[in-house]
Amino acid sequence: MSQEYRTKKRFGQHFLHDHGVIHKLIKYIHPQENQQIIEIGPGMGALTIPLLEQISQLEVIEIDRDVIQHLQQLGGDKLTIHNVDALKFNLADLLKNNQQIRVVGNLPYNISTPLIFHLLKYQEYIEDMHFMLQKEVVDRIIAQAGSKTYGRLSVMVQYYCETEYLFYVGPEAFKPPPKVDSAVIRLQPWQEKPYLANDVEVLSKVVAQAFSMRRKTLRNTLKKLFSKKQIESVGIDPSARAETLSVKNFVDLSNLITLEA
Ligand code: SAM
Repeated sequence: MSQEYRTKKRFGQHFLHDHGVIHKLIKYIHPQENQQIIEIGPGMGALTIPLLEQISQLEVIEIDRDVIQHLQQLGGDKLTIHNVDALKFNLADLLKNNQQIRVVGNLPYNISTPLIFHLLKYQEYIEDMHFMLQKEVVDRIIAQAGSKTYGRLSVMVQYYCETEYLFYVGPEAFKPPPKVDSAVIRLQPWQEKPYLANDVEVLSKVVAQAFSMRRKTLRNTLKKLFSKKQIESVGIDPSARAETLSVKNFVDLSNLITLEA
């Protein structure tokens, strides 16, 4: 079927065909029989098949109904297919006996950021995630304070997860090749978060506001939320820019608001 199948741009379909890359990714995932593993976007099964060689049950979430029959033939009884939009899927519905789940996938790049934000809503149920992403997105996720790529995505993902860059993948590993470089990342939700925001919605707002004008000082960008004095009260220089603040700094700031409420 892969011969006749015409990939769909709107679903970000770039199918992996480099066996070395597939093998490396599966090795990092290290699937174990007693684990509940969910694959997002199985497509024609490039990762699904090697995963099923190591575990006897796998669940996949795939939006494209044209690949479902092929997947059914590939996986038989071992595969549970959810033919839905992963962005709208309630991951908590998959939980069995309070066991944490593992999420993997070569994600559709056009929706990878909203998809990661969606998955982070279920972080308490997730043991870890292994994703192939556009390299630029991986770089933004792992960026540290002070770097040019550090921003809202870095702060929010690092608030929820430990992040680890695994390896680079060039465009030639995919069919059709994407126009961008790719990389694989591991995200492991903290079992115990190093810094706890009293309200993540507030944290998210403060972070978004602070990065809304990267070049401006915090005194300027956050003036509707905090006085100069309040910013100083948590040990932050009001003339600094958002990109210099650590995740802890953002948590401290957002907790100022929730403490007062
Ligand atoms: N895993 C396959 C591979 O590595 O060859 C396919 C990866 S391809 C980059 C992304 C896959 O995600 C496609 O199969 C696509 O149909 C699927 N997809 C795109 N948007 C989706 C969504 N909103 N929900 C679930 N699957 C989606």
